[in-house]
Amino acid sequence: MKKLRLKNYKHQDILFEYLDELSRLAVVLVDRQLIIQDCNQGFLKMVNQVVKPIGQEFQSFLKQKIPTEKLPIKGRKEQIKRETKVAENLFIFFSWTILHLEEGYLMVGEKLPLYSSDITEKMATINDELTNLTRELTKKTIELEKTNATIKELSNTDGLTGAFNRRYINEMLPALAETSKEVAKPLSIIMADIDTFKKINDSYGHCVGDDVLKDFVKILKGRSRNKDLVARYGGEEFLLVLPDTAEEEAGKIAERMREELQNFQFDKLSEVVTASFGVAELMAKEKTENFIKRADDAMYKAKMEGRNKVVVS
Ligand code: GH3
Ligand code: MG
Ligand code: MG
Repeated sequence: MKKLRLKNYKHQDILFEYLDELSRLAVVLVDRQLIIQDCNQGFLKMVNQVVKPIGQEFQSFLKQKIPTEKLPIKGRKEQIKRETKVAENLFIFFSWTILHLEEGYLMVGEKLPLYSSDITEKMATINDELTNLTRELTKKTIELEKTNATIKELSNTDGLTGAFNRRYINEMLPALAETSKEVAKPLSIIMADIDTFKKINDSYGHCVGDDVLKDFVKILKGRSRNKDLVARYGGEEFLLVLPDTAEEEAGKIAERMREELQNFQFDKLSEVVTASFGVAELMAKEKTENFIKRADDAMYKAKMEGRNKVVVS
C-alpha cells in the first residue's frame, strides 16, 4: 500500500505491509471524495476482484451510500455497517471503520457473520415460494393440457352430433388405408345418407331435423366397435370407417344399422326414418378418393333402387 505519512504512527511501513497481507480485513485507502487510491489483498479477495479498483468510487461497492456527514472529522474515527458488494447481485454486511487521514480516509472493513437463523429463514422463504410456483405451474400445465385436448377434440368433431368431422376423416383415412396394407387386413367403409331428409325438415322444422341427425349418430355409434370411426361427411351424410373388416361383414353391419333406424321411434315424428347405405372394401393400390367414390356410388345405387337399402360395391 502507499506509504502515508501518519503523524501518530511510528512504524507505518510495518503496519501497512501487515494490512496488505492480512486478508481477514479489507483495507481501502480513499481520497476526500472517497475515490479509491489503493487497497489491500484482503479487500480484493472479499469483493472478488483481481485488479485493484483504483480510481473507482468506494461507494460503488456499497448498497447504501455513506452520507458525507457520517465521515469522521480530523482525529476521529467512525464505524458504520454497510451491505457490501461481494459479487454481481450479492451483498454481504460489512462493518467499516473509517479513519480520518491527512489526505483522505482509511476504510477498514470486516465481514459480519451470517447467523444460521437468518440463513434458515431465507431458505425457508425461498423454499415456500418455490413450492407455490411449482404448484401454480403444475396447475397451469394441467389446465393447458385440458384446453389443448378440448381444442383438438373440437377441431376433429362435428358440433351438432359429436361425430368426427370430414376434415378428420380426410386426415385419418389415408393413414388407416396404409396400415391395412401393412398388416394385410381388410378395410371397409360405409356411406350412409338419410332418405328424403329434406321432407323431415320441411314438415317438422330444422330443430327436429337436428334431433334426427343426433339420434342417427347414436344408432351408428351403437352398432360400431371402438376401433371404428363414425364421421359426419356432409349435411345428412355419414361415413363409417371399419378397420380389419371385409365388405361382407361391413354389409351386415350396415344392414343392422339400416334395420335399427327403420324401427327407431323418434320423438315428435310420426313417420319412419330410413337411410341408404353404400359399402366398399379397399382394393389393392386404390387411392382413398376412389375408395370413397365407390362407397358413394353404391349408396347412390341404393337410392336409385328405392332407398332404405344397403348396396355393397
Ligand atoms: P335423398 O333421399 O335423396 O337423400 O333426399 P334428401 O332430402 O335427404 O336429400 P337432399 O340432399 O335433397 O336434402 C338434404 C337436406 O339435409 C337438406 C338440408 O337442409 C338438410 N340438412 C343438411 N344439414 C342439416 C343440419 O345440420 N340440420 C338439419 N336440420 N338439416 C340439415
Ligand atoms: Mg339424404
Ligand atoms: Mg345427401
